[in-house]
Parts: sequence; C-alpha cells; structure tokens
Amino acid sequence: MKPEDRSVVRRTTLPPSETTPLVTPLFPSVVYCAEDADALDAVYEGRAGGYSYAREGHPNASVLADKISWMEGAGQERAGQERAGQEGFGQGIMTASGMAAISAVFLALLEKGDHIVAGNQLYGRCLRLLTQDLPRMGFEASLVDASDVAAVEAALRPETKLLLVEVVANPTLRVADIKGLARLAKERGLIFVVDNTFTTPRAFKPFDHGADLVVHSVTKLLAGHSDVTLGYVGARDPGHATALYDAVTTWGLNASPFDCWLAERGLNTFDLRFQRAQENAKDLADHLRGLPGVLRVLYPGEADHPDGALARDLLQGNFSHMVSFELDADRAGVNAFVRAAGNIAFAPTLGDVGTTISHPASSSHRGLTVEGRAALGISEGFIRVSVGVEDIDLLTREFTDAVAAARRAATREVG
Ligand SMILES: *Cc1c(COP(=O)(O)O)cnc(C)c1O
Repeated sequence: MKPEDRSVVRRTTLPPSETTPLVTPLFPSVVYCAEDADALDAVYEGRAGGYSYAREGHPNASVLADKISWMEGAGQERAGQERAGQEGFGQGIMTASGMAAISAVFLALLEKGDHIVAGNQLYGRCLRLLTQDLPRMGFEASLVDASDVAAVEAALRPETKLLLVEVVANPTLRVADIKGLARLAKERGLIFVVDNTFTTPRAFKPFDHGADLVVHSVTKLLAGHSDVTLGYVGARDPGHATALYDAVTTWGLNASPFDCWLAERGLNTFDLRFQRAQENAKDLADHLRGLPGVLRVLYPGEADHPDGALARDLLQGNFSHMVSFELDADRAGVNAFVRAAGNIAFAPTLGDVGTTISHPASSSHRGLTVEGRAALGISEGFIRVSVGVEDIDLLTREFTDAVAAARRAATREVG
C-alpha cells in the first residue's frame, strides 16, 4: 500500500506493547468495531467479551461497577453477561446519577398497579419521585418511618411490590431497622432495596442483611471529590440484574466514561478518606456537645441518639462521617455561623474530601412547611455536617468560632 492510500481518518492502530498501563485507560469511544458480523454476533450474545455501543456498556463503567460490586459483595460479573443458576451471583451497573439508579429500579421492576412502601426520610428528590412523579404514572407509594417495622408492615398492601429505605436518613440520621425489614420483605415476597449512600460498604453491607438491590449515589463518598455525578445499582438476583441492565440502556440512564474514570480514581483512596472522616466525625460530635449554643447533637452511635441501639447493632462501630446538630439560633444566627466558618464550604452536598455544611431548612427541606420540618425535628438552627479529612484541630477550632459567632448574632438581636 502506498502512503497516500492509507487513510488517517479513524484507522488508528495502537503501537504494540509488552507492558500494560497501571491506570485504567479512559475509553470515550461511543462505538466498538468488530472483525466481521459473526464476531459482532458473538459479542451481542455474550459468547465473547466486548462492547458495541457505549450506551449499552463500556470498559470504564464495567471496571467501576465491578469494584463497587466487589465492595458490596454483589459478585463481580459484568453487566449483560448472565450466568443464571450460580449461587450468590449478583452484579452491578453504573448509572448517570444516584437518581438514575433509583429510577432504573422502578423502571426495571415495577408493573402496572404495583405499590411501593418507602422510608419517609429519603433523599429529597427520591421523595418527590415517589409522591409526585410515580403517582402520575399510576404507581402509588406509602411513606413510613423505616425504624418502625410494625409501621412498615401496616402500610403493606396485597399489591406492594417493593420496599425502599436508606440505612441512615438525611439529615436527621435516623437508622432503619434493616434486619427487621429484611425479615418482613422475605416473608411477604417484597423486593428489598437499600440506598447505602450514607453508610457505604465500609460501614454496612446490605446484601449480607437480606437486601435484594443496593443503590448508591457514587457522586458522594465513593467518588469523593465533588467532580462527578454518578450512580450504581447492584442486584443479588440475576433476573433483576438483567432487568436493570435493560432499563438503564433502554431509558438512557447510562454513565459517561469520563465520570466513571474519575470515580475510579477517587475510589482508590475511598477507604483512607472514609476512615479519617469517620474518626473526625466522632470527635467533632463530642466537641460540639460541649459548646454553649448547641442544643443537641445527632451522631448515630451515641447513647442519646433516638436509634442508638439499632445503629450500634447494625453498624458495628462504623457510624460514618455525617453529624447533625441544632444551633440555638434563628436565620441571622445561622448566617453568622456559616460566614464565620471560613474554612468549611457551605454547600448542599455530602461526601466531599473536605468538610461541608448544609442548612436543610433553606436547601434539601425548603419545600416543606415549618410544621412539616418540625415534625422531622428540623428547625431553623438545624445544621448538617459532612465531615471531611482535615486536621481535627482545625475543624474543632472552626466550629468553636462559628458557634460563638452564631451566639453573638443571636444576642445582638435580643439586645
Ligand atoms: C445524593 C443522594 C442521592 C441522589 O444521588 P445523585 O447522584 O445526586 O443523583 C440518592 N440518595 C442519597 C442518600 C443521596 O445522598
């Protein structure tokens, strides 16, 4: 072939290499080329490994999903490659966001007329999905206190198909009675779905406690750097896994290669970040308890927590990185607190490598009335902290100063 007969358009071959990259390469390619039609058949039919079109799967999603599935104990097989009949087999799939993962569960598994029972303190968008969007499509949902198994049982109907809970709820850090709920789900043949975002597989492994599906907002701790939006859903049952795979690829809920690549990079340090953040959270909770102007502190493992015993039984000392507390302050005090905490980002997210604070009354729970928030125990002075990996002395200093600033603002107003 003469040089001028050789196309430079899309005819790249990689140089031969005896070595392999340490880091997973990024595969932004939308399509994958096959040798011929038979080879493509083999890929589509799962007889050969490979990919065809990125919405249907790509290496960066497979690599990341396998890692999270492995952490969760969901099995390590790749989406779309079924091996039915294998004991304990399960698999996971990446989605474009945590909400896409939750949507995939409903889109994959619900049928006309099905009813859902879910925790009443789920992530805000999830509550909206259950109370506004699913009813519009003919699915009814009942919301109940997930730490009360009797209340959940009372909400079940003959047509209840699925039970969805978070292990530790936002922002009140209430704990679901996972063991009781798993027993109930098994007895009544419900699909038991656990959102493990707050706890992460380091603190809790839902599959070991009877969950059928595990959902993550990978956006949070697992990716850990507030630079990707991603979700994950893993299934115990291969039939569920296949249905989820089909829902994600058909409804277009798939994850981008770059986001998966970044999240894998974040995941490398997840364990270190989690350990440090958890230690900091415990110390910060203790510190906040001693500050004048702090009315109460919520941290799941503590004796004064409403579900303390449940948390200790389920989480075995891993109470994660979230601390909530109530300032004796009105809006002016809260503003003063936030402004005084100059080293801590005021941002309505969680799981970043650094500490972030959020104010549920003006963000996640702003849609509720004052009374609705009060029923959940969320006052104007309620602050949620996602504790990061900073030096604990810096954190305690920062919170001491910020709480004092809130007190001064409140005092000024009174005087
Ligand atoms: C953030 C979050 C979600 C939604 O995840 P996105 O990635 O933001 O779509 C779902 N559940 C919990 C518990 C969350 O914290």
